[in-house]
Amino acid sequence: MDFSLNDEQELIRQTARDFAQRELAPKAAARDLSGEFPVAELKALAELGLMGVNVPEAFGGAEAGAMAFSVVMQELAKADASVAVTVSVTNMVAELISAFGTEEQKKKHVSKLTSGEAVCGAFALSEPQAGSDPAAMKTTATKVDGGWKLKGNKQWISHGDKAGVIVVWALTNKDAGTRGISAFLVEGGAPGLAVISAEHKMGLRGSTTVQLGFDDVFVGEDAMLGTEGMGFRLAMAALDGGRIGISSQALGVAAAALEVSLAYANEREQFGQPIIRHQAIANKLADMATKLEASKLLTERAAWMKDQKIPFSKEASMAKVFTTEKACEICDEAIQIHGGNGYTQDFPLERFYRDVRVTRIYEGTSEIQRIVIARQLIKEASN
Ligand SMILES: Cc1cc2nc3c(=O)[nH]c(=O)nc-3n(C[C@H](O)[C@H](O)[C@H](O)COP(=O)(O)OP(=O)(O)OC[C@H]3O[C@@H](n4cnc5c(N)ncnc54)[C@H](O)[C@@H]3O)c2cc1C
Repeated sequence: MDFSLNDEQELIRQTARDFAQRELAPKAAARDLSGEFPVAELKALAELGLMGVNVPEAFGGAEAGAMAFSVVMQELAKADASVAVTVSVTNMVAELISAFGTEEQKKKHVSKLTSGEAVCGAFALSEPQAGSDPAAMKTTATKVDGGWKLKGNKQWISHGDKAGVIVVWALTNKDAGTRGISAFLVEGGAPGLAVISAEHKMGLRGSTTVQLGFDDVFVGEDAMLGTEGMGFRLAMAALDGGRIGISSQALGVAAAALEVSLAYANEREQFGQPIIRHQAIANKLADMATKLEASKLLTERAAWMKDQKIPFSKEASMAKVFTTEKACEICDEAIQIHGGNGYTQDFPLERFYRDVRVTRIYEGTSEIQRIVIARQLIKEASN
C-alpha cells in the first residue's frame, strides 16, 4: 500500500486547501451563526472541478479517484464542515449517476452538478420511520402512463431544498422486500415536491437539512436510475463510498481542532509557563495526534482500496466508525485544552465540537457500522 499522493492528487489537494483557507475559513463562523447557505462558494468549487472529483471527465468531473476525493474533503472540512457535507453528498450523487445512469441521465444531471449549473445534488433515502433501517420506507412509486408517480415523505435530506437533482428511493413493489425498492432522479422544483420543514440543528448550520414531501410527483420512464428493484443495492454501494467522505470530513475537523489546540497550548501561560509544558496537556496533544494519524491511515486505506477496485465495504465502515469516534474525542479534548475559552464562540472549538458530532450518526450510525463490520467478519470466517 502506498498512500503517498501522486502529482495530480497533490495538485487537487493544494487547490482545495487554497480555496478552503482563502474563501471558506474566514466566513465559517459567520455562516454558523446566520445559517446562510454558501451558494457562491459551492459554484466556485464546481468551477475548480471539486463537485465531481471521482466522476469521468466526459461529464465534467476530475476523474481523480477516491483518494483525491478524501483529501479534498479533509481540506474543506478543516475550514468549514457545512460546506464539506454539501460537497460530499453532491460528489456521491454525481458518482452514483455516473456509475449507474444512462448516457442521457449522465448528460442531463451529472454535467449540471459538476459545472455548478445545479448548485448541489441530494440523496433522499431516509424517512421518519426508516433511518437505520431504510428498507422500512413507505414512499411509493406507482406506474402510470409514461412514467411513475412518487408519493411519500423523506426526512433529514441534506440541502434537499437547494438541490438541482435528488436521487429518491421508493417502493415499486411493496411485497418484494429490498428488491421492491427502486431509485429515481427527481429535479428540484418538480410539481408536487414540497419542503415540509427544516431542521434546527446542533451543528452544520451552513447546510440545510429538510423534510421533503412528494405528493404524486410525476417522473418519466427515463427517470429511473438503474433497473426496477435495483435501488437498495445502489443505495448501499453509494453509502460505502460516502462513508469514506464522512470519515474524511471528520478527519478535517479533527485536524483543525488539533492545529488550533497546539498553537493555543504554546501561547497560553499558566503557573509561569506555556500550558504545553504541563505534561497533562502535552499528553492530550500526543493522544490527539496519534488518534488522528490512525484515523487517517484507516480512511486512506479504504480510499486506496476503492481506487484499486478491491471490495472496501468493511474497510469503509471501519474507517467511519473509528475516525468519527476519535474525531469527537479530539474535539472534546481541544475544548479542554482551551479551558473557558473553548466553551465560547470567540474560538472555533465549540463549532468544531457541534459540527463533528453528526459524523457518528449520518450515512449509517456507529452502531450500524459495527453491524456491517461484524457481518463481514462472520462471512469471512465461514469461507
Ligand atoms: C444532519 C443530518 C443530515 C442527514 N442527511 C441525510 C441525507 O442527505 N439523506 C438521507 O437519506 N439521510 C440523511 N440523514 C439521516 C441519517 O442517515 C439517519 O439519521 C441515520 O441513518 C440514523 O437514522 P435515525 O436518525 O432514524 O435513527 P434510528 O435509526 O432511529 O436509530 C436510533 C438509535 O438506534 C440505533 N439502532 C438502530 N438500529 C439498530 C440496530 N439494528 N442495532 C443497534 N443499534 C441500532 C442507532 O444506531 C441509533 O443510535 C441525515 C441525518 C442528519 C442528522
